[in-house]
Amino acid sequence: MSRKNKVPLADRVARAAEAALAARQFVSSIDILIGIGWLDLEAVERWRRGQIDCLEDAVRTNLPRISEAMQLFRSWATAQGLFASETAYVARTPRRQMLRFSRSGDPQIEASYRTHWVSPELSEKKRERLADKARRAPELVVIQPLNTEWTCHRCGGTGDLLMMEDPGPACLRCVGLDDLEYLPAGDALLTRRAKAKSTRYAVVVRFSRTRGRYERQGLLVEPQALAEAKTP
Ligand SMILES: [Zn+2]
Repeated sequence: MSRKNKVPLADRVARAAEAALAARQFVSSIDILIGIGWLDLEAVERWRRGQIDCLEDAVRTNLPRISEAMQLFRSWATAQGLFASETAYVARTPRRQMLRFSRSGDPQIEASYRTHWVSPELSEKKRERLADKARRAPELVVIQPLNTEWTCHRCGGTGDLLMMEDPGPACLRCVGLDDLEYLPAGDALLTRRAKAKSTRYAVVVRFSRTRGRYERQGLLVEPQALAEAKTP
């Protein structure tokens, strides 16, 4: 443990929890790990895309320290009277596998990581809406690469769009999304209707060099859904 961390872990956990609670009315284990500086958002994104086996592998400290922090977090949340709400964490991949937090994969530890702690100030209805939102499967993300010379790690092919996988970029045919149709952003109503009618869809993003982040370009939706959404 580093000597410069003079602030007790309990205080660091409480501070991270308070900040997340103030911002979103609930706190997750990930909020804590990021808030105390052991985990970065970029690693969480890779984990959510199924590129990291378990989240603990991306946390920059040892297992006993992590479980100490998680225990402190649970005690803090209980003492504040927050409501425990177990949340599903599903990978942002076409397989939509359950994401794993711990190296051990112990069901009890997994459940404890998945638990969001919700503010008691929220009405029951708002708490339910929050839980619904958290339960919904995350969106698949497809990238419009800036560098068009890329090779699919599975088939050696290429294309206009790719999906990032652990070993590298994969083409839409290999990930099973090549039947979807591209709908550029711009028509909010059409986008909303096509998305609602499509059982499978993916968000298309492109990296903006000037803004330094990925930005939405449009959606990939089922052709049938798009056709239906276009008919008045
Ligand atoms: Zn391929």
